[in-house]
Amino acid sequence: APVLAVRDVEKTYTSGTRALRGVSMRVLPGTVHGLIGANGAGKSTLIKILSGWQQASAGTVEWKGAAVDWSQPGQALEAGMAAVHQHTPLVDAMTVVENVFLGRRETKRWDAAARRAELLALCERVGYELDPGELVSELSVGARQMVAILQALARDPAVVLLDEPTAALSPAEREVLFRSVRRLRDAGTTFVYTSHFLDEVMALTDHLTVLRDGLVVVDSPTADVTVES
Ligand code: ADP
Ligand code: ADP
Repeated sequence: APVLAVRDVEKTYTSGTRALRGVSMRVLPGTVHGLIGANGAGKSTLIKILSGWQQASAGTVEWKGAAVDWSQPGQALEAGMAAVHQHTPLVDAMTVVENVFLGRRETKRWDAAARRAELLALCERVGYELDPGELVSELSVGARQMVAILQALARDPAVVLLDEPTAALSPAEREVLFRSVRRLRDAGTTFVYTSHFLDEVMALTDHLTVLRDGLVVVDSPTADVTVES
């Protein structure tokens, strides 16, 4: 059964633009689900609806089998849906460990040793090394992106939405990110993944949904998708 699904979702902006015209999509647990489409196809709109930043004009979002209305800020994240955007804000003047646990609801007061140990365990799971005490301002673009992803993972989400995560990365950093995503996927985390790079989507995703003009034009296992070049 899907962990996340949208059914017959429509979005008409107040301007009159019909950004989504009856979109349905099912995201199965433990998969990397690619979402692609040309500029203006409706990807951002769908992502905003999935992460609760925007409401659909019609249709439903279903989370673990039940219709949800993520109309309150933070509701999606609370439920276990964590979004990482291209420009997820990090605080430059703070350390890696401070950024990773930033904003997480803590039940106890900040325990530096415990947080550091938790971060190192998380890094181990992801297969990525970071110095917990390093300032974020000192990090490469790729390392910053990993900090943003670790920040999402620190909340132990069921689904992680990665919106163009490799846009600013070097080829080497991209490979590192792929390896981490595959590793987490194999351990059960579900990803919704958007990218402009078709080769990357073909290599990384298990399932592909392609939008065009607010409609789903391809929705199938990635292995069954043929790409004409
Ligand atoms: P709604 O029609 O759901 O009320 P709005 O038109 O109020 O949506 O826009 C929602 C948000 O998207 C606003 O924060 C707005 O600044 C932003 N926005 C407006 N136009 C665009 C656009 N063309 N592309 C992306 N975001 C936009
Ligand atoms: P994509 O992410 O695939 O480029 P978008 O979801 O940003 O597509 O946009 C889909 C359509 O909706 C486009 O025609 C875009 O101009 C329009 N659009 C996006 N956001 C808004 C908004 N807030 N208000 C009005 N129109 C919008």
